[in-house]
Amino acid sequence: MKERKLLMIPGPIEFAPEVMQAMGTAPTSHVAPNFIEVFGQALERMREVFLCPSGQPFIMAGSGTLAMDIAASNLIELGDKALVVNTGHFSDRCVDVLERYGAVVTQVNAPAVGGAPTLEEVEAALKENNYKVMTITHVDTSTAVGADVKGFARLGRENGALVIVDGVCAVASEEMRMEEWGIDVSLTASQKGIGVPPGLALVMASPKAMDAFKNRKTPVGSYYADWTEWLPIMEGYESRQPRYFGTPAVNLVWALNISLGQILEEGMDNRFARHCRYSEAFKAAITALGMKQVPVSSDNEATTLTAPYYPNGVDSGVLKYVEEAGVILAGGLHPAINTKYFRVGHMGVVSTSDILATVGAIEKGLSQVGYKFEPGAGLAAAQASLRDGKGV
Ligand SMILES: *Cc1c(COP(=O)(O)O)cnc(C)c1O
Repeated sequence: MKERKLLMIPGPIEFAPEVMQAMGTAPTSHVAPNFIEVFGQALERMREVFLCPSGQPFIMAGSGTLAMDIAASNLIELGDKALVVNTGHFSDRCVDVLERYGAVVTQVNAPAVGGAPTLEEVEAALKENNYKVMTITHVDTSTAVGADVKGFARLGRENGALVIVDGVCAVASEEMRMEEWGIDVSLTASQKGIGVPPGLALVMASPKAMDAFKNRKTPVGSYYADWTEWLPIMEGYESRQPRYFGTPAVNLVWALNISLGQILEEGMDNRFARHCRYSEAFKAAITALGMKQVPVSSDNEATTLTAPYYPNGVDSGVLKYVEEAGVILAGGLHPAINTKYFRVGHMGVVSTSDILATVGAIEKGLSQVGYKFEPGAGLAAAQASLRDGKGV
């Protein structure tokens, strides 16, 4: 029997065998010609994956939280006004990071956990003040709420704010067209939609964001995150000239280049559509099994993960049985409701059989804890949804 369990959490996700192979290869020097080529190519591919031909990519060793720190430290100066569109736990983190660099933060909050502010509320807030930046959490991984990035970004742009998108659980999976939608900074980490083990912070900055950075009056308050140091490194590698500030995570960059290549081979539109299809199928199964979801409306559900509430009489104890049935899921994260729900990631190299295996394992777990439902109802709903969609 296969020992390995299926990892269906919102990051780290399952990784392609070619990506894992790159991780296990003997590292070369970070200035060796073959690595220079790989780093340069990864930077070029990032622009295509972020759909931002005019963007400046940054690849740095660190996690998604560093990517947030990079955006805030390079763009915020003491007293700058920032507006945070708050959809959950990771938006709260955004507030903390911005404040750490001296921003004066205003928040537009969701009416309740699982909700999102409306376009009207955000527009009204933008009109009240002159904000230098506005932040949007594309997918709040604590609630599975997907924000209307396109709509919010348009409002931010119209009102003169730099639009920063925390895309850690979204980039390369959830539809995001950075340049077309007028986003100034989009950031992510390697272990979620990008499909590479944890360890890389990825940031894409628009020309407007780079101008704002170049026009700073005060030095950047973080030594490691400072674009003054990293911009020449990225420009250097892209023109195939190695430069040194801090040692790049050689194997991770190698793996990143392979994963970005696979993503582009699938094609961004195909990839967005596939994530929608899997998400619909999985959510149909959850509904058929009698479970509600944390997002309060189907308009604001993420496609990269699903956050179902446990049904009546069931608690987090069920996750152990689901794992015994071969699938690892994540518990709740939002402090207000964290014992009441669980989270299932379905992004990256997942397949229809992974989706069905996950639904099957959840059914097995639910029956083991005595929950009454029609056996196979979830699987039938997922299969019907996949059959009606285009299938893969
Ligand atoms: C995971 C996540 C983060 C934090 O990323 P780490 O790699 O865990 O530091 C930030 N924002 C969102 C939306 C996330 O999903």
